[in-house]
Amino acid sequence: MQAEIARRTGLSPATVTNLVRDLADLGQVKVTDHVHHGRRAKLVEPNVRTGFVLGVDLGRSHVRACLVDMSYQVVGEAFQRVERGTSSDEGLKLVAGLFEKLLAESGVMRSDVLHAGVGIPGPVDQMTGRIGAANLLPEWADIDLPAAFSKALGLPVTVDNDANLGALGEYAWPPTLREPAIFYMRLATGIGGGLIQDGQLVRGADGTAGEIGHHSIDESGPLCRCGNRGCLEAIASVPDFLHVLSSAVGGDVDVDRWVELTRRGHTTAVRLMEDLARHIGVAVGNIVNIANPNTVIIGGAISVVGEILLEPLRAEVRQRALPAATRSTRITQARWGDYAEVYGAAYLAMAAVDWAPPCVQVLNHE
Ligand SMILES: [Zn+2]
Repeated sequence: MQAEIARRTGLSPATVTNLVRDLADLGQVKVTDHVHHGRRAKLVEPNVRTGFVLGVDLGRSHVRACLVDMSYQVVGEAFQRVERGTSSDEGLKLVAGLFEKLLAESGVMRSDVLHAGVGIPGPVDQMTGRIGAANLLPEWADIDLPAAFSKALGLPVTVDNDANLGALGEYAWPPTLREPAIFYMRLATGIGGGLIQDGQLVRGADGTAGEIGHHSIDESGPLCRCGNRGCLEAIASVPDFLHVLSSAVGGDVDVDRWVELTRRGHTTAVRLMEDLARHIGVAVGNIVNIANPNTVIIGGAISVVGEILLEPLRAEVRQRALPAATRSTRITQARWGDYAEVYGAAYLAMAAVDWAPPCVQVLNHE
């Protein structure tokens, strides 16, 4: 009984009420109304649902997976680099292989894993389970994504766009952020975005909402792979930036190396990072004008460079967006770095088995 907890611990009833409410929000305890010795009382019980979920972030050049228990504890994680342009068959095999590895290393039984959430670098139409804009991820076009991953992993699977999951990871893992609106931007080899408005992940009609990489920021700019001109991803093309940097330093340069060179003050690396920030600032300024989020969170592998990126980005947003909108919008670095997506994927799986507290409603097409 809740009153008994206060008596035995010596804490005030108000403190116990607050603590119990916080634990209930986190899904750690359940509270039910009872009558005890003729008086109404609240029964507090540990939430004994057991089991695990799998979170998977399948990017263009990496796959990361984690096994998580019901208290948000990561009991195993695995990471592997992936060749760009990997086929869907290879991708499915890779994800299945990492799952096997996690099971073996953690000692968790396969039958105790209830659901998986999988993020892929393209928009996912939740109604059809297919890519919402096939030309953005041709390797996975025309595939029933939940069915394919479910077959490969041997458990029920929910699939979503990786940047949507990044937004969810930052927002709801664990469920502490209570701001009504955030925009999450994933900066890695590709550029993606996820929007949460009024505590709801906004997916749009075909799952393409928040695809900030394909916002046109120059109507006469270069052609983009999506067929449009002057998209953010075509102008602030991370592969092109890496190519320039690799000719300046000699040898192959990936995102992690670019971040490292920038931190060490390498002139070309820093200049390119500032260029990237300015281009991105134009697109973020548009988002701030449209959605007026409380916070814009910059995540993905490039975001770990921190203020070197954020400062010029904020300056550009201030120039582009309405002063009223920018006054209330903070621009910050993702707290989970490049783990936001995999945590969001695990959260998606928890929501699918009714584990996740209802601080954000993720299954809006159920
Ligand atoms: Zn485009």
